[in-house]
Amino acid sequence: MRLIELYDTQTKTLRPLTPLVGRQVCIYSCGPTLYQAAHIGNMRAYVFADTLHRALRHFGYSPNHVINFTDVGHLTDDADAGEDKVEKQAAQENQAAEAITARFGDLFLADLKKLNIKTNRYRFPRATHYIQEQIALTQQLEQKGYTYDIADGIYFDTQAYKPYGALGLPNTEESDEHARIQRVAGKKHPHDFALWKRTPDGVTRQQEWDSPWGRGFPGWHIECSAMAMKLLGTTIDIHTGGMDHIAVHHNNEIAQSEGASDTVFANLWMHVAFLTMGSEKLSKSLGNTYTIDDLEQREYHPLALRYLFLQASYRTPLSFSFAALDSAQTALFRLHKEYAALPHSLLSYLNVERNAAHCAAVDAAIADDLNTAKVLATVHAILRDTSLTPISKRNTLRYADRVLGILCRPKQRGKQVIIPPEVQDLLVQRNTARADKDYSTADALRTRINELGYEVIDANGISTVVKKRGT
Ligand code: AMP
Ligand code: ZN
Repeated sequence: MRLIELYDTQTKTLRPLTPLVGRQVCIYSCGPTLYQAAHIGNMRAYVFADTLHRALRHFGYSPNHVINFTDVGHLTDDADAGEDKVEKQAAQENQAAEAITARFGDLFLADLKKLNIKTNRYRFPRATHYIQEQIALTQQLEQKGYTYDIADGIYFDTQAYKPYGALGLPNTEESDEHARIQRVAGKKHPHDFALWKRTPDGVTRQQEWDSPWGRGFPGWHIECSAMAMKLLGTTIDIHTGGMDHIAVHHNNEIAQSEGASDTVFANLWMHVAFLTMGSEKLSKSLGNTYTIDDLEQREYHPLALRYLFLQASYRTPLSFSFAALDSAQTALFRLHKEYAALPHSLLSYLNVERNAAHCAAVDAAIADDLNTAKVLATVHAILRDTSLTPISKRNTLRYADRVLGILCRPKQRGKQVIIPPEVQDLLVQRNTARADKDYSTADALRTRINELGYEVIDANGISTVVKKRGT
């Protein structure tokens, strides 16, 4: 297995990857909050995670990769005040929270597929399926004296846990931080954060659970610690996320996990820089966010976005513009055309000849902290290389594409099928019936969904609906 060097945010150095167990590499990537469609900035984080995943497979490692679905607990305000984003969206649309998260979860997976991210290589656990683990972890921290109890809920006491801030601390002197501390009565320090929030008196939440501290819901950070440790182990090889997560979310994850286990949570921390709009942040309020669907409506192929991302180092901010996307798409389509002109007969596939020098250049670039820009440059060198036979050219391009993932064109399914709210509601009712083991009602609801032209698919503990073929 080839050694690969990756940049670690914690030590601020390039470090060789040395997996804990054999060839297996356990990776946890912070996933989306399912209350709206993910924008192309979010997609940069997942194309990066997928590039890492592909690079590891390319070098013979076996990634065990989790991307979580946040379907509860992420508040509109990072300082533990504000509304739960999912509950808020559900109220606005007058729908069940579960219907909202099912819809945006399906949309997210469909977007990943359009970017040629093979979703069957990943696990996508939902926070609401791991409530007991989150409660147990909070109890462990409570027993160790790292928590305090206030009317709002159970808080992590960052002053009691001395190593807090493993990835570097934001400046607490800043006035807005001081303003924030006031927002939750009883919170002792701006860095402290909620592990469990009590449902306030007089409030009715759709998603809430009983706990040793009363009815409520988990804080946003605890889900990642609980799911990573449950699904991947106490210590994982690599943790990824966007750079916005370093100061708060990831410091908090480390404090929770290491506070409970007394051992290292993640050996390597990798962070992807932001996709920006000129010097501005992508933000809904500035009206400058786009989704994959928006790009398709403007007749861009989603893989043009993947190509655009791969042109830059994942560690440098990338400024989005439609002009840049145009050039990426032009280059991508030229590549597709030249690739399609190379031999593709069944017989030619038996020939595995490829160019050793170009393959070595690809390997060296990938092993150097995923230098995809260099791999793309090698792809163009392969195309220009007149000394290669057509078959060798094709095979060498395919070798580079194991990591890039831009050569194939995933089938475009046309416009996204929107599942009507009535059908979503029937699905939620069916999920409830199944949870209550009331299978005759569940079956009747499935029949009703079928009559409306949709099919229920139960897989990996999650039920979704798809439009029936031919309807
Ligand atoms: P969120 O749903 O806001 O938690 O974001 C999901 C993932 O996308 C996280 O890893 C974020 O750090 C990342 N992210 C959000 N905005 C951007 C952006 N503009 N560029 C790159 N990554 C982003
Ligand atoms: Zn996370």
